[in-house]
Amino acid sequence: MQNLLDLEPAALAHWFAERGEKPFRARQVCRWVHQRFAADIGAMSDLAKPLRASLAGAAEIRAPAVLRDTTAADGTRKWLLDAGNGNAVEAVYIPEDDRGTLCISSQAGCALDCAFCSTGRQGFNRNLTTGEIVGQLWHANRTLLQDNIGAPWVQAGRAPITNVVMMGMGEPLANFDNVVPALRTFLDDNAYGLSRRRVTLSTSGLVPWIDRLRDECPVALAVSLHAPSDALRDRLVPINRKHPLASLMAACVRYLERAPRDFVTFEYVMLDGVNDQPEHIAALIALVRDVPCKLNLIPFNPFPGSGFATSPRERVRRFANALQDAGIVATIRKTRGDDIDAACGQLAGQVHDRTKHRLAARIPLVAR
Ligand code: SAH
Ligand code: SF4
Repeated sequence: MQNLLDLEPAALAHWFAERGEKPFRARQVCRWVHQRFAADIGAMSDLAKPLRASLAGAAEIRAPAVLRDTTAADGTRKWLLDAGNGNAVEAVYIPEDDRGTLCISSQAGCALDCAFCSTGRQGFNRNLTTGEIVGQLWHANRTLLQDNIGAPWVQAGRAPITNVVMMGMGEPLANFDNVVPALRTFLDDNAYGLSRRRVTLSTSGLVPWIDRLRDECPVALAVSLHAPSDALRDRLVPINRKHPLASLMAACVRYLERAPRDFVTFEYVMLDGVNDQPEHIAALIALVRDVPCKLNLIPFNPFPGSGFATSPRERVRRFANALQDAGIVATIRKTRGDDIDAACGQLAGQVHDRTKHRLAARIPLVAR
């Protein structure tokens, strides 16, 4: 059975052509799947009955199964989705006044082992398929529509999800071949039709793949910086040992030649006593001086055994102000969905037990 969620629009057209069907039929089916969120080929009422019957024998629409569905006090909603073999991934819906953002996962686990990340602690399980990545958006739209969420943009006829951020579990650029077809599906007018500015990919800095993304499917880019020097970043974001800051900054500048936005977002998780001191501010200002960027300061979301603590609120504010004074746009990320562990870096996706008990042995990095 061909899972239609695995086929980006061009691949769907190809699949139809191989079956001797006209291209406009592929576009019709594409709209049924990604704009009307049909789960059943039989429901595609404007397709001739024989075509529906032959399609139903060869294809299906299959998103990952939902293992858990939790809604936080602030409206943030998290779906725990089955990735097989006891693995699970998470997708998080974040409603705001004028938009609905979905944070999606690209891998079950992650191999890059950033020191402060609970997904990294889990290790790498496997890459998600295109269908599993697209399925997160398909499922969220379908469910939120069924639940009549009453958001103003939905009442105006738009889909519940207006923005997608690849900031869930996994390193999207380490799963490039499945992520790019998913991105194209998000952007295609016969599918989700999102503008490139409303789709953001966050990477820990896989430099060669940043270049490929620029060439093949540029969307808004967020880069997990977290440290202003190679010495510190080597420890916090180990991929830095392979792709150090100078090459990362150069890749960001190259990316901006084709990017839908004229800045890169640098994410900077605020770790008490680790990367939040005055010398870090000065080094950060010097580092990003030549890269058009916005700095997004993320309060560290603690998890048991992480070995890190969240910077005090006042220090985060001072850090942001100092950046602003140097002419760098800096924002402090609001934490959402805390009560359901839906916040950044807390997505652990464990079906049974979270990793809590195995973590205590890790040596804390906090140097004070
Ligand atoms: N792998 C990609 C995208 C997923 S992580 C990346 O690293 O960019 C999304 C963001 O959450 C990244 O900026 C990541 O560094 C950050 N993050 C990870 N663990 C966190 C934690 N415990 N608290 C706050 N942010 C965290
Ligand atoms: Fe992987 Fe991103 Fe977590 Fe690093 S922060 S371990 S790259 S998911």
